[in-house]
Amino acid sequence: MGIVNGLPAGFNPDSYDAIVVGAGYAGAVCARRLAESCGMKVAILERRNHIAGNAYDCLDDAGILIHKYGPHIYHTTNDRVHEFLSRFTEWTPYQHKVLANIHGQLMPVPFNHTSLKMAFGDEKGERLYQKLVATFGHDKKVPIMELREKNDPELAEVADFVYQNVFLYYTMKQWGKTPDQIDPSITGRVPVFVGDDDRYFPQAPHQGMPAEGYTKLFERMLDHDLISVFLGVDARDIVSVRTGELVVCGKPYGGEVVYTGPIDELFDLDLGALPYRTLDMVFETLPQDQFQPVGTVNYTTTEDYTRITEFKNMTGQVVPGRTTIMREYSKSYEPGSGQTPYYAILEPETKALYAKYRERVSGILNFHLVGRLAEYRYYDMDGVTASALDLSDELVAQHN
Ligand code: FAD
Ligand code: UDP
Repeated sequence: MGIVNGLPAGFNPDSYDAIVVGAGYAGAVCARRLAESCGMKVAILERRNHIAGNAYDCLDDAGILIHKYGPHIYHTTNDRVHEFLSRFTEWTPYQHKVLANIHGQLMPVPFNHTSLKMAFGDEKGERLYQKLVATFGHDKKVPIMELREKNDPELAEVADFVYQNVFLYYTMKQWGKTPDQIDPSITGRVPVFVGDDDRYFPQAPHQGMPAEGYTKLFERMLDHDLISVFLGVDARDIVSVRTGELVVCGKPYGGEVVYTGPIDELFDLDLGALPYRTLDMVFETLPQDQFQPVGTVNYTTTEDYTRITEFKNMTGQVVPGRTTIMREYSKSYEPGSGQTPYYAILEPETKALYAKYRERVSGILNFHLVGRLAEYRYYDMDGVTASALDLSDELVAQHN
């Protein structure tokens, strides 16, 4: 049915079987499944002026395809997710590689065999590597917090080096906390790799970039006769659950509502705000073919920014004589300030606060929370797609 700006005069929610809040992965996947598997008429409300959520990409003034909300690399081990998304795009082969700038020297991250030899010299690096192989096995991933627990002095030397030079300063910049103070699953996303593979996601059999970009993938997913997308519409203006019942445009609503935004906002943060980190993304176009050797360089010992991404190195776009890079500066998110909540700060207290908000809507059987914001989770694109497929399976089963 198309994508339009604003809600038309006389918008009647009862003429839709489902209302989806948010046009990112969570919302778009659910909308598509409800439309095509149940014949439901779906209205998507999106407060931004574009679809695709944080995966949105577009051409900048220099004609370079950029990711407006940070570098997005598709990778998954989940065949179902891959099959579903592949209906809407071809993939350009791309294996993401990251280098850490450690006091000016560029070393592969995840820290691996090559990095060890760069850090300690060939001979000692090899000896330490053999020790790692003997302890953990070959081609094994070892989270830094686990490596730090080993009592062996040589392993402790490796752990100290990696902790100090790869994780400590970067994590302080990204989270405002040391690696010991955050959930170990976060640093565990980038384990030390006992092997030679220098890819960031060595475990993912499906990896690449959507051939015509993420926004195009979303355009195709949302291109369905039963789906209408309304941009620039904040759902909180018409959707409310505050009284324990689902109200849309001032009347009880009997259709399904899939909500993919932050749940605390629905209650005006009345139990307190769920904390997040936000990012300032600073883009710069340079008059040169290439700026750095890989897609992303992490600045793990110096600089105020965490990383620099060079988009052409990821998308494979060929544009001679110019390139666009982006620096990420992380900071605390202030609710209501217009900032984007990018990373949930997952701690026992914040998870408990989330559970309290969630409990408030648990009795509303036609109101569903899904997505990185609505579930308050550290999901990658594949994880959020999987979660949306699961929810839509339930809804499809109920409505058929
Ligand atoms: P979102 O993409 O945030 O979409 C939610 C949408 O809901 C938004 O468009 C928002 O505007 C809208 N919305 C919220 N509230 C309302 C409201 N009240 N009314 C109307 N609309 C509303 N994943 C990877 O797999 N690989 C990567 O390389 C990768 N890199 C990332 C880099 C960064 C910096 C970040 C922050 C994330 C990255 N991710 C990556 C994760 C990826 O962005 C998410 O998994 C995915 O975008 C989540 O989709 P979503 O639909 O849950 O949320
Ligand atoms: N990390 C780090 N140094 C690095 C890479 C990652 O300290 O060079 C830590 C940091 O705490 C970061 C986390 O590992 O937040 C997860 O990194 P990832 O690259 O997965 O983060 P994302 O791409 O989601 O921002």
